[in-house]
Amino acid sequence: MTTVYIISAPSGSGKSTLVEKVRQIVPGLDFSISYTTRPPRGNEQNGREYFFITREQFEEMIRKDEFLEYAEVFGNYYGTAKDVLAKARENGHDLLLDIDVQGAAQIKGKLPDAVSVFILPPDRKTLESRLRTRSLDAEKVIQNRLATASREIENYMKYDYILVNDRLDESVETLKAVLLGERLKSSGRQLSVADKDLLARAEHCRLGNVRGRLQPILASFVATATPGGR
Ligand code: ADP
Ligand code: 5GP
Repeated sequence: MTTVYIISAPSGSGKSTLVEKVRQIVPGLDFSISYTTRPPRGNEQNGREYFFITREQFEEMIRKDEFLEYAEVFGNYYGTAKDVLAKARENGHDLLLDIDVQGAAQIKGKLPDAVSVFILPPDRKTLESRLRTRSLDAEKVIQNRLATASREIENYMKYDYILVNDRLDESVETLKAVLLGERLKSSGRQLSVADKDLLARAEHCRLGNVRGRLQPILASFVATATPGGR
């Protein structure tokens, strides 16, 4: 049975970096390439990071009911095509969706068994510096993304797992543990010591187990949030 994994994060948290790495180490995992109306960034290529289409083309796809979910983010449309889920099911693969909080809510509504992961930066300052290090966006875009991050973060409690992306190698191991842990649980097989370690790592970032650790992170955003947002 196909498990759908949803990954959301404020822009700049390191989600793409993490997703890229776990895709290389977790077998049988399809990645959904979204459609978007935003222009390519850096060396992004059509059909690799996204399918880049016009607003007219996107609206035509909406009319034809071709999206599993879609949302407007930062003034552009982003959407997941229905056919990626059909293909993953056909191949007996799991499916990873990198989508925003609005899209995540739509998927949870349609597929309640989907497993969701919210990635957080260690604090707001680190998020800002990562957005600048990436330096693919103009200053106005960076400020917009920081303001949006403060609001997106308020949705963390709607997710099953919360992963604080501090040290990259640790975060890759934890995300891998969440994905493989869900498979282990549904496999019904006898657990080895290594399996139990993996499950413990995943459990550590379950929503109910992280609340205390999140307080300083959330506070760093509240203290500096721009009133009124965008
Ligand atoms: P997102 O997909 O969430 O917008 P990216 O994956 O593009 O974010 O990461 C933003 C920047 O932060 C990139 O320059 C990336 O190399 C860097 N980065 C990602 N994870 C970490 C980490 N754990 N520690 C330090 N830098 C990181
Ligand atoms: P970026 O422009 O940085 O690639 O992505 C901006 C935001 O859009 C991110 O939060 C990303 O997760 C989200 N996003 C990317 N693809 C989709 C999609 O298909 N649907 C939705 N709802 N959000 C998406």
